[in-house]
Amino acid sequence: MGIALVGIGKIARDQHIPAIHGSGSWSLAAAVSRNASVEDIDTYTDFHQMLAQRPDIRAVSLTMPPVPRFEYAMAALQSGRHVMLEKPPGATVSECQVLLETARENRVSLYATWHSRMAEMVPAAKIWLRGKKIKHLDIIWKEDVRRWHPNQDWIWQAGGLGVFDPGINALSIMTEILADPVHVTQAVLEIPENKDCPIAAELRFAHPHGAHVHAVFDWRQSGEQIWTIDIETDGGHLTLFDGGARMVVDGQAFASGDTPLHGEYPRLYAKFAELVSDAQSELDLSPLQHVADAFLIGRRVITDPYYES
Ligand code: NAP
Repeated sequence: MGIALVGIGKIARDQHIPAIHGSGSWSLAAAVSRNASVEDIDTYTDFHQMLAQRPDIRAVSLTMPPVPRFEYAMAALQSGRHVMLEKPPGATVSECQVLLETARENRVSLYATWHSRMAEMVPAAKIWLRGKKIKHLDIIWKEDVRRWHPNQDWIWQAGGLGVFDPGINALSIMTEILADPVHVTQAVLEIPENKDCPIAAELRFAHPHGAHVHAVFDWRQSGEQIWTIDIETDGGHLTLFDGGARMVVDGQAFASGDTPLHGEYPRLYAKFAELVSDAQSELDLSPLQHVADAFLIGRRVITDPYYES
C-alpha cells in the first residue's frame, strides 16, 4: 500500500524512510515537506493538496512534532486515510481521543506508535516479569540534549515536552511490561528560566502492591548516556539497558547486539500494516497520561537558563 510521509526531519530520515523502503507492506508514494525533498519521491509542500491530488494514497505517517500534528491527523482521517502517529501521539490527552473518535467515524485505522515498545528485549522483559512480585522499579534516562536534540526549538516550547520527549519512551516501556497500573504521586520539574519545558524531572508512582516506582530524567548528562530500567522482584533482578535493546537477568546478559532503535521502526510499520488489514486502531495513552499528570502535580524548580551554544 502506498503511504505518504509527512514532516521530513531527523526521525523521518533516520528511521521512517529506511523502514518503509525495507517493508514488504508499504511503498513510499509521496513526501510532504515545507522545506525538504526526498530523492526519487514526489514531494508536496502542501498537505491538503497532496490529499486532494493523490486519492491512490490510502495511508499517511505523521512525523512532525506533537503540537502541529493534530491538524494534519484530523485532515487525513476526515479524508478517509489511515494514520500513523509518531510518539507522543499528541500535545494533549483529549486531542488524541478526538482523533480516535474521528478514525472510527471515518472507518479508518489510527496507530499511535511507541517505538521503544518495539525494542528488542521489551517483549522478553514483559514475559519474565509475569507472575513475579515487583519490589522496586527505577527508571534512569539521562542524555545530553545538545547531542540528541540540536536546533529543536519546538522541544523547549509549550507542548514540546522537554526532557519528557525522551522520558516518555521509558514510560512507554514501563506501561507495556508492568502487569499492574501505576499512577504519579509526586513530581519535581526543573525548568530553565528561559524555557517552557523541563530539562530534568523526577517522578514517584504509586503501585497497587506497594512497589517503589521511581523515574529520573535528565538532559544535562555528559559522558555515558543512560537509558536504563532496573527492576527488583521476588523472583530475581532484571535490567533493561539502551532503551530496551539489551537486558540482564540475574547477571546473565541477553542482547541482540544491535544499537538503540535498531529494528523498532520496521516493527512499527509491520504493526501498522496489520492494523489496517484488520480494520483496527491502537491508541494507548497511558505514557502521555503520566506526563500530563507530572505536569499537573509537579513542583516547578526554576534553574539556570539553557543555551544550545
Ligand atoms: P525535527 O527534525 O525537529 O522535525 C521534524 C519535522 O517536522 C521538521 O523537519 C518539519 O518538517 C516538521 N515540522 C516542524 N515544525 C512543524 C510545524 N510547526 N508544522 C508542520 N511541520 C513541522 O524533529 P524529529 O526529531 O524528527 O522529531 C519529530 C517527532 O519524532 C517528535 O514527536 C519526536 O518525539 C519523535 N521522535 C524523534 C526521535 C529522534 O531521535 N529525533 C526519535 C523517536 C521519535 P518539514 O520541514 O518537512 O515540513
